[in-house]
Amino acid sequence: MSDTGSSSPLASPLFTSSVYTLADLDALDAIYEGESTGFIYARDGHPNAERLNQRLCQVESAGHGMVAGSGMAGLSALILSLVGQGDHVLASEMLYGRTTQMLRQELSRFGVSTTFVDPCDFEQVRVVLESMPRLLLVETMSNPLVRVVDVARLAKLAHAQNCLLIVDNTFATPIGCRPLEQGADFVVESLTKMISGHSDVTLGWIGISPQLKSAEDWAAQIRQVISIWGFSGSPMDSWLTERGMATLELRMNRASDNALSFARWLEQQSGITRVDYPGLSSHPDHEIASRTLHNFGCMMSFELSGGREGVNRLMRAVPEIAFSPSLGNVTTTWSYPAGTSHRYDSPAQRQRQGITDGLIRLSVGIEDVAKIQAWMEKGLKVMDES
Ligand SMILES: *Cc1c(COP(=O)(O)O)cnc(C)c1O
Repeated sequence: MSDTGSSSPLASPLFTSSVYTLADLDALDAIYEGESTGFIYARDGHPNAERLNQRLCQVESAGHGMVAGSGMAGLSALILSLVGQGDHVLASEMLYGRTTQMLRQELSRFGVSTTFVDPCDFEQVRVVLESMPRLLLVETMSNPLVRVVDVARLAKLAHAQNCLLIVDNTFATPIGCRPLEQGADFVVESLTKMISGHSDVTLGWIGISPQLKSAEDWAAQIRQVISIWGFSGSPMDSWLTERGMATLELRMNRASDNALSFARWLEQQSGITRVDYPGLSSHPDHEIASRTLHNFGCMMSFELSGGREGVNRLMRAVPEIAFSPSLGNVTTTWSYPAGTSHRYDSPAQRQRQGITDGLIRLSVGIEDVAKIQAWMEKGLKVMDES
């Protein structure tokens, strides 16, 4: 029944209700049996999550999908749905810090072991896959050096061993890469980042390939895990993310164009010893990125010759770029991997990964790129003088 008579709202309504009313027992049974659509309890599903899910399934070419309360909730729900005691997981050694902790500290408590590999080293991946892991978990683009994986090639290697491939596509977004179209079985997005896009949401999403055998059963299993473990997301966050998605393509294309011209400029500046951006021909994965991505994205990192103190001076000299340890906002922000995402790695581990004390990670926004460049020019000049 509509509350708006013979017209309907153009903008999505927000349904904050935690529970729904039903006419009688038959109406209840019909929903449980899937004979009619409807909602019963918001932790099991609500209209705002469902609307958002349909939009995401469309842009990611997913057969089924489900919204979760955060990117980590999505990853947790998916992995808990796929593994059991004694199972073995193969994971990239360059994953988001909390994902690595989840595998290392949490899943190990339930008898699930993980081997970490370099996902860009196909020979290493091929050999480790012979141990028959249940699943392989990688990120399209790594943090913070933006290493790019070849999803299609990893999917072939994994499937040859009956292993499922999960791709965390957060850094690329579906505008930059659609892993399901390249053979991945599952995709996970932290909607908290570029997809919601305005740093006012915490939400995640899981997508399932329409090609996956028993995709429907997997979807039912994951939905159950989300409800039982309490991984669902709120109507408000879903509503805000649906709104953010209306501009996702515009924002990502602009931010990616900005990032490419800024990276090219930055590479030429003195005081900058390295720029890591897959759109630069100096990046080790430039060829794979050019072949497999629709754009190079908005994430990059660069190294200052002045080390930690240089980073401090630059941040103080450029207050226009906010120091905030997340990414994907409409404005340009920077973060410091050695002090945030990789804080608890040993100095030796950081050194091995190329995360030096002078390394800054930049999430490029949609401002006029001339502005971003002018801010940076001012900052580098101040550093030059000190
Ligand atoms: C932020 C992030 C996550 C976790 O997402 P949350 O929404 O913060 O839980 C997972 N993977 C990557 C690559 C991320 O950047």
